[in-house]
Amino acid sequence: ILYNQMQEAKGNIRVFCRCRPLRKEESLAGHATVVKFDAAKDGELGILTSGSTKKIFRFDRVYTPEDDQVDVFADASPMITSVLDGYNVCIFAYGQTGTGKTFTMEGSETNRGVNYRTLEQLFKTAEERKEIFTYGISVSVLEVYNEQIRDLLAASPTSKRLEMRQAPEGAHHIPGIVEAKVESIKEVWNVLQAGSSARAVGSNNVNEHSSRSHCILCIMVKAKNLITGESTVSKLWLVDLAGSERLAKTEVQGERLQEAQNINRSLSALGDVISALATKKSHIPYRNSKLTHLLQDSLGGDAKTLMFVQISPSEQDVSETLSSLNFATRVR
Ligand code: ADP
Ligand code: MG
Repeated sequence: ILYNQMQEAKGNIRVFCRCRPLRKEESLAGHATVVKFDAAKDGELGILTSGSTKKIFRFDRVYTPEDDQVDVFADASPMITSVLDGYNVCIFAYGQTGTGKTFTMEGSETNRGVNYRTLEQLFKTAEERKEIFTYGISVSVLEVYNEQIRDLLAASPTSKRLEMRQAPEGAHHIPGIVEAKVESIKEVWNVLQAGSSARAVGSNNVNEHSSRSHCILCIMVKAKNLITGESTVSKLWLVDLAGSERLAKTEVQGERLQEAQNINRSLSALGDVISALATKKSHIPYRNSKLTHLLQDSLGGDAKTLMFVQISPSEQDVSETLSSLNFATRVR
């Protein structure tokens, strides 16, 4: 209750900034760190720009390279509980390729990220509430690449083009999409792995491909209150966005040009939607990209949004870092 009161007072959009550690090669090559964490506890971050001026950014949370998956999840966790109370939630990881978007969302089997921990918490809380509620949990794994949606849990993900339909109540749905029912946390890792490995199908370079597509885990929660008989359906979207870096003009030709334009279009459409919501504009431009259109019923209204803006500490990346921080400041 306290958390929800806090949410109401502060609005439904949160931005958390996470900085990855400087890589061994980067420190061996003598690259300096330009990110200052003196006031990280207060949500403040300093970036040393040219002439050693310090530019300050403020977010709801700032994570240093020493903060681990548990620290990060602890702050996201109240939002996840609210899904069991009938709220829709979207969590995004935004940033340049190599800054830890996939690390934050997916993590690894020994160092699990937000996706797995979210499902773990949903099952745990559902179990604690079983005297009062029954919950049904299912997941879909999707990819948006070049403004096309692929179902990564489908038997042959590449062969089928998915389209969105508008349901009578205004929500969107994708006819034919696989919704895998998960009964326990034990089943989850396999489903997530199946989705992850399907991303590789039909692409010659998995890492490159995943940096140019949005990877989406959608968790659907059906709740029934056993005392009142009331039912709710809510959705939690966990989105590992395409890399936000701008490509060098010389690199961008032909197919890559279209790809790059689609990424720019969808990331700026997402920024436009969230900042329109944050400033309470009357028109919210959901229709400008597949991603925002898909997430329409979970962005805005009483839905909750969390964006992780992921950054690199290296001086080599400072211009992308500034551009990501400016993006994140705009949506806050
Ligand atoms: P992205 O998905 O944004 O392209 P990745 O998640 O693949 O980036 O991260 C790039 C590399 O940096 C990976 O090897 C990852 O394990 C490592 N990394 C990212 N963030 C962290 C972190 N906070 N702590 C330790 N290693 C990290
Ligand atoms: Mg990634």
